[in-house]
Amino acid sequence: MAIIEDRRLTPAHGILGRDKDRFLSEENPFEAMMSRFDRAAELLDLDPGLVKVLRQPEKQIIVAVPVLKDDGSVDVYTGYRVLYNTSRGPAKGGIRFDTAVTLEEVKALAAWMTWKCAVVDIPFGGSKGGVNCDPEKMSLGELERMTRRYTAAIINTLGPDSDVPAPDVNTNERVMAWLMDTYSMHVGHTVTAVVTGKPVVMGGSLGRREATGRGCMIVTKEALNHLGLAVRNATVAVQGFGNVGSVAADLLSQEGCRIVAIGDRHVALYNADGIDVQKAIEHSRKHGSLKEFTGGDKMKPAELLTLDVDVLLPAALENVITTKNASQVRAKIICEGANGPTTAPADAILDEKGVFVIPDILANAGGVTVSYFEWVQNRGGYFWTEDLVNDRLRDIMCRSFANVLDIAKKHKVNMRTASYMLSVERVSTVHKLRGIYA
Ligand code: GLU
Repeated sequence: MAIIEDRRLTPAHGILGRDKDRFLSEENPFEAMMSRFDRAAELLDLDPGLVKVLRQPEKQIIVAVPVLKDDGSVDVYTGYRVLYNTSRGPAKGGIRFDTAVTLEEVKALAAWMTWKCAVVDIPFGGSKGGVNCDPEKMSLGELERMTRRYTAAIINTLGPDSDVPAPDVNTNERVMAWLMDTYSMHVGHTVTAVVTGKPVVMGGSLGRREATGRGCMIVTKEALNHLGLAVRNATVAVQGFGNVGSVAADLLSQEGCRIVAIGDRHVALYNADGIDVQKAIEHSRKHGSLKEFTGGDKMKPAELLTLDVDVLLPAALENVITTKNASQVRAKIICEGANGPTTAPADAILDEKGVFVIPDILANAGGVTVSYFEWVQNRGGYFWTEDLVNDRLRDIMCRSFANVLDIAKKHKVNMRTASYMLSVERVSTVHKLRGIYA
């Protein structure tokens, strides 16, 4: 069993040399996930039968979601819910509303949730859902009707013991409240634990909204410490200014880092002296984007990714660091706040350059960790203080970072491969113990 990471994986060798189609589909997120899984399975010398089991999602649901529009016409959207693996516990994973949602994407995201929950060792499997739509073009009423109809369409999979959604791209507490209500109406009583990321007044957890960004801040500090870099004045560029990017930027700046660049889907801004993140958040909240924010100089969004900074924090969507730009990345650390921001072939280029990547399944696991706390609080009917939530989150993130780093050192692999090794090992151990039901 070869356990030394092959640092020469380039388009002509290794992963890509073995499978030309993967190169052609560099931006297929499911392939991106699968090639990392295959690598970990190989290094773990995983039983071939288990490899077959873990390469398949357990359940894939595709539903039509008809929605009555405000003008009386009807639109029909396509909705998905994929349960990738539930061996370790109920399926857990967010729901996104976006024009880029496809079955391939939802499958990849559901698999990432499986590995993510296992990396931080919380007792969940992985799932994901989404509706292909443009929420920016929908009224609040249309959004509510779509959410309720989608929930009703997948109701048989949902439940605190079977599948527990949460917010993701373009969904929030408001959407989770509709989902919880729809489910509760169907079963005839209020079930708070069917969804996490709810408003606090109806059973949400304190600290959940900030949890993903807070987790990113915690592991970024761990990485800076590991590399012997000072946290104070460390320079950071944040791509994406939604719930993850804006909170991570804010908390990192509170820790003394200098946030020199931020960007959203409309604009990217640079300020060598450090952007006033609080002001940027206020502006974005008020105007819906960073457009017209005067706290930095405008630059091309692509430039943000190749700035000479200590930390690059991609916190938007998949496939932003690819074979096209990876060789130009100058950051010392990449903290993947988004799911799947780096393509599999780009990993090898970043390795070659010595970039320390905190992979998505570890870096952004703070969100699902506090989702787990929310589910525990709902089931216990007893709520924790925000300090307790944040302390327990810090413990889990620091311990998980240390566990992954140990594996990386021991097997001389990068942090991504180490994270997959840890999680695939945990999931497959449970599979072995449970056996194949016949
Ligand atoms: N959507 C978030 C993620 O990708 C959170 C999932 C959850 O809390 O269940 O990790």
